[in-house]
Amino acid sequence: MAAVPNPPEKMMFQLTLRRRGISDQAVLRAMEEVPREVFVDPADRGYAYRDSALGIACGQTISQPFVVAYMTEQLQLQRQHRVLEIGTGSGYQAAILSRLCSHVLTVERYRTLADAARMRLQKLGYDNVEVLLGDGYDIPPGAGTFDRIIVTAAMEQIPEALLERLEPAGILIVPVGPHHGTQTLVRVVRTDAGFDRRELVDVRFVPALPGIAREL
Ligand code: SAH
Repeated sequence: MAAVPNPPEKMMFQLTLRRRGISDQAVLRAMEEVPREVFVDPADRGYAYRDSALGIACGQTISQPFVVAYMTEQLQLQRQHRVLEIGTGSGYQAAILSRLCSHVLTVERYRTLADAARMRLQKLGYDNVEVLLGDGYDIPPGAGTFDRIIVTAAMEQIPEALLERLEPAGILIVPVGPHHGTQTLVRVVRTDAGFDRRELVDVRFVPALPGIAREL
């Protein structure tokens, strides 16, 4: 049987997020509500509430909880928002987003990851999340535009096509930088005049690669 994380561990989890500067109550609540142990590799369940990234299938990672909370806070989500995530991975970030907005479309280039994430989210009853096997560099035109876009894989530059998917006053958060090195989290706000770009903090994400993966 998988070890069930004990309450002190979950309390420490919340405390660490607060101590590191997460103050948005709705974000903290979502982080408390979503069971991270369901999203990590079964062998890593005992580490689910540590503040660290963990390996998942297909050589990818589930992000560090602080980074998930920080990026979510920076999105300034509102209940009615439609959100696009690029890089479903385990589905954990999508689950957090789903607690704070009306609809999440999350795109993943590995079928194995997309299928597993879809099943987890379904089991948890997070039915306002749609998982799509696809390429974040090539979102189908029919997907429309979004109030918020979050990219959870590193891009060398911000694709124009992605900026065009932002609604007026929309916000995009994306790690920008070299594939194997330090990247910077960038926050772009769509204004009347164009796009307002601000650099936030240094981060490390797995690379965003073009195309649906040939491997499963
Ligand atoms: N948000 C995830 C972690 C993301 S890891 C979580 O909460 O678990 C980054 C993910 O982005 C990987 O699963 C990787 O396969 C995916 N990815 C990389 N390039 C992509 C692309 N072009 N389109 C869609 N997904 C991509």
